[in-house]
Amino acid sequence: MTNRVAIARVASGDVESAVREAVHLAGGFDQLIDSGSRVLIKPNQCKPSPRHCGCMTDGDVVEAVTKLVLERTPASVVIGDGAIAGYDFAGFSTQEAFDSSGVTEVAKRLGVELRNLNKDFFEEVRVPDALVMDTVRIARTALDSDVIISIPVLKTHIRTHATLALKNMKGVMPGAEKRKSHRLGLDMAIVDLCAVVRPHYAIIDATVGMEGLWQHPQDTKEMGLIVAGSDALYVDVVGAALMGIDPSQVMHFHYMADREGKSVALDGVDIVGERLEDHRQVFTTGFDVFRSRYPEVTIVQGESACSGCTNELVSAITYLKQAGYGEQMTGLTVVVGDAADSGAREKVVALGKCAAELPGASAYVPGCPPKEAEMVRTLAEVCGADPETVMATMAQARMKLWNASSDAIER
Ligand code: SF4
Repeated sequence: MTNRVAIARVASGDVESAVREAVHLAGGFDQLIDSGSRVLIKPNQCKPSPRHCGCMTDGDVVEAVTKLVLERTPASVVIGDGAIAGYDFAGFSTQEAFDSSGVTEVAKRLGVELRNLNKDFFEEVRVPDALVMDTVRIARTALDSDVIISIPVLKTHIRTHATLALKNMKGVMPGAEKRKSHRLGLDMAIVDLCAVVRPHYAIIDATVGMEGLWQHPQDTKEMGLIVAGSDALYVDVVGAALMGIDPSQVMHFHYMADREGKSVALDGVDIVGERLEDHRQVFTTGFDVFRSRYPEVTIVQGESACSGCTNELVSAITYLKQAGYGEQMTGLTVVVGDAADSGAREKVVALGKCAAELPGASAYVPGCPPKEAEMVRTLAEVCGADPETVMATMAQARMKLWNASSDAIER
């Protein structure tokens, strides 16, 4: 591992050349992969989304990385991930994520195995010098790999500010473990996870990034870059800086740097290729965007709040507004995670198992995570909106997204 991180620009839409250039500038795979290597390529396939919207690692980047790996003629190559929060149901499954990002086609084309890690075998592993997780359950595929290449997409995150190569490793844990990591403290849990399965190489798909609430198209950010390096911490530091995020504000960078005797300061990174200053943008955080877009709603997050609830909630609120109930949402307070109090006395919705004991809630949506339809209906009822109208709006919006996704795959 070195502190060198390469930034390459995607010229004329040629993603493969940019990936090759970035990996070459960062030192290549020669020292990393040999004929005995079992390689796991780990893209971010968090939830089915249209291509090129910045939500998932795109198939073009996965294809370019996989070709580079195959050129080293390793013993085995698997492309694997498990969708967000570990639940795999219709509309949100890992397979649909693979399909919509173009990764299914890539695996077929290159003859590489594609694996849904939510359905893998898991093994409990002790974490050395644990911060919050003494043990962690990990997909066998990851434990059996000699080389793990993390390929995140460039995104902000509502709890950790940035979600990049280190946090991307959450995809190798089963759903219950993913949720536990949120309860125990996500930033420290990421470092514990990476103490067991630290990526050996990181390549950020910064062709298109995503800010704010991960809503397409308004939160999509065109970047046209690939970032690569052998030390995922330094790659993530550069990725955060490209989004205009001060790396010192990302706590899991700090914990990881402390553990490894490193620094998160940008001037400690040897950046080669494109100049960072020429490409830095300002990505807004999830809560900044939420507050400006939905000033009528308050979200209270307890310590245990995780993306299993928050992502669905943001979608539900969006559909309520799209259905014409923006005014009725005024004064709505939604509690996610184990908050002690909502701070409000009416129109309070407690969301998910973590918030089951919330005092004074007007309504409670059970589950971990709660079912989306149940959440939409409950929010609609509390706001005095017609749940069927909101559900119909949601179905139409989904259909539009899927059509956009299929079109992109065919193109
Ligand atoms: S109830 Fe919601 S916030 Fe709590 S762990 Fe489950 S998904 Fe996460």
